[in-house]
Amino acid sequence: KAKQGGRNQWIFYSCEMSEHLMQQRDMARHLECAIAENRLRLFYQPRFDLNSSTIAGAEALIRWEPSPGEWIMPDRFIELAEENGLITAISDWVLETACREALSWQETMYVSVNISPVEFRSGNLVQRVFHALHKTGLAPARLELEITENITFENPQHALTVMQGLHELGVRLTVDDFGTGYASLGYLKAFPFNGLKIDRSWMQEFPQSVQSKRVVEGIMGLAQAFSLTVTAEGIETEEQLRQLKRMSCDEGQGYFLGRPMPSSEFAQLMSPSGEGKEPINTLAPVK
Ligand code: C2E
Ligand code: MG
Ligand code: MG
Ligand code: MG
Repeated sequence: KAKQGGRNQWIFYSCEMSEHLMQQRDMARHLECAIAENRLRLFYQPRFDLNSSTIAGAEALIRWEPSPGEWIMPDRFIELAEENGLITAISDWVLETACREALSWQETMYVSVNISPVEFRSGNLVQRVFHALHKTGLAPARLELEITENITFENPQHALTVMQGLHELGVRLTVDDFGTGYASLGYLKAFPFNGLKIDRSWMQEFPQSVQSKRVVEGIMGLAQAFSLTVTAEGIETEEQLRQLKRMSCDEGQGYFLGRPMPSSEFAQLMSPSGEGKEPINTLAPVK
């Protein structure tokens, strides 16, 4: 709704508004509204244990539904949220929602949540994660935090302190988008990471190009040197899956194995009568 009146013009927008009507500058305000009015959703993309061909857990991926049936992807608003300081409120909602929804899955499964590097600047990330676990009752070992390597860049000493605090809570810590950032390899040794996720850009020419194959092999060698589990992101073909299994990659994620899906759909997949324990091939490709 937009109203205009005489000299003192004023404009009023309802929280429910389609994206194309939003100006970039209005978007932050609408996003704030979206948090309050519960218009954020989590989708879940399965993460497979490639050794046993079972679902090990899922990554929570945020979507914004400004009006029913209209979806805005995170690439369109996470950066904005980081710039406007809204990321903390969003992330608190993500953490709590992911922890609560994971409670209905099988007890062996974990949920992974993306944490923005800017959240490492403030000192209270450890308390916020503790709060989400405490409030929902999810076991810390069932929560994984995905963090890009850029956190080691700005203030390494502070980032290390925060990481150690998170590690002591008992949550798993994973490097996201490995192979795209600028950090030195030393941080793999210095920081208490449990795993790394190979960025999907390295999957694009895998396994056809010799170079991409060597890069993936190289990353897996590094991971082994630092005792990290490896997840390959962006698996889109059967051939990629086969190769990664042959290379003994620990976990896999991608459209070939399962697309991000609404939480109800994922929970159904996970229900005792669901297919969570079936071999990958009966699940793939999930539309
Ligand atoms: P990410 O953490 O690297 O997540 C993986 C992205 O790749 C997701 O995009 C996922 O849908 C997509 N993807 C998965 N498999 C495939 C595949 O086989 N092929 C291709 N082409 N893409 C695939 P999405 O959901 O649009 O998320 C984009 C990024 O937004 C995420 O990258 C993450 O950095 C960020 N993000 C998502 N949710 C959150 C959140 O709750 N908090 C924060 N801070 N960032 C988030
Ligand atoms: Mg991620
Ligand atoms: Mg990633
Ligand atoms: Mg990313």
